[in-house]
Amino acid sequence: MECRVLSIQSHVVRGYVGNKSASFPLQVLGFEVDSINSVQFSNHTGYSHWKGQVLTADELHVLYEGIKLNNVHHYDYVLTGETHTQKEVKICVKRLSVFSFAFSVCDPVLGDHGSMYVPENLHPVYKNKVVPVADIITPNQFEAELLTGKNISTEKDAVEVMDLLHKMGPDTVVITSSDLPSRLGDRFLVSLGSQRTLMPDGTKSTQRVRMEIPKVDAVFVGTGDLFAAMLLAWTHHYPNDLKTACEKTFSVMHHVIKRTISYAHDLAGPGRKPSPPQLELRMVQSKADIEDPAIVMEATVL
Ligand code: ADP
Ligand code: PLP
Ligand code: ZN
Repeated sequence: MECRVLSIQSHVVRGYVGNKSASFPLQVLGFEVDSINSVQFSNHTGYSHWKGQVLTADELHVLYEGIKLNNVHHYDYVLTGETHTQKEVKICVKRLSVFSFAFSVCDPVLGDHGSMYVPENLHPVYKNKVVPVADIITPNQFEAELLTGKNISTEKDAVEVMDLLHKMGPDTVVITSSDLPSRLGDRFLVSLGSQRTLMPDGTKSTQRVRMEIPKVDAVFVGTGDLFAAMLLAWTHHYPNDLKTACEKTFSVMHHVIKRTISYAHDLAGPGRKPSPPQLELRMVQSKADIEDPAIVMEATVL
């Protein structure tokens, strides 16, 4: 059965973020991907220079009209993420309401480690409009805390935050990274996931998992976008098995990041810190790992 994804994200000429980070891996896994490039930049904004254009609400609407006139605006999944300004959030909410889709996957990009990418007055829009229509969300710890108004200091807090996020709408929540201490030591970071499933008798059951991820000492860009795309793919194949979906997703991340950091060090030379262009994800080179990821980390069921 064909599965069609509408991916509304950034495009970059050089490198891998947004649609460049999501399309290829989804296509490799057999998904049909229709992309709307919400911005077209020369490269991601972590470089010294970047230039480009942002799609206006009118320009987005024209694309939607074309698709709708042909009656091909029906999707199995809508995938969205990236940072939004006030105007863009309005577009984002509008986008989601005009396309017809079965599932929505959203990385609610608000910030990281206490630094906000999105002005505070927009948080209610995310809480009330964006998150409620999403089926799968992939916040980091900071974003999960902002969306629920609850701090995460223990695993129990994280479980409560994920339960609050379920109450807001999404049945699948993965906190991509947290500051919780890992049982494997300080070279690992902890990620937590929670999935609510409707049982045949009408009750809801929740599966929760924890992953320990080896930390790599570098800042990668586009990893959040790749993560959301891979979680979409693997929850599609394992809809009621978050453990397996997470093991596949995090293993892909691990393979891509390992290949990327090793190449970046080769380029930078001994003892030198790789630059943003040198740290671009090794996506094409990771094709085989994306298609059939060797499972390199096991999820613990809580
Ligand atoms: P977000 O956009 O939600 O903040 P990130 O891009 O920080 O997400 O991370 C998404 C995923 O990418 C993580 O769950 C992890 O699997 C992987 N990842 C990103 N950066 C690193 C890193 N420095 N070391 C190890 N894994 C990383
Ligand atoms: N899109 C653009 C244009 C960017 O510049 C960035 C980050 O700099 C991203 C998306 C986000 O990337 P990530 O997946 O790491 O959150
Ligand atoms: Zn993110």
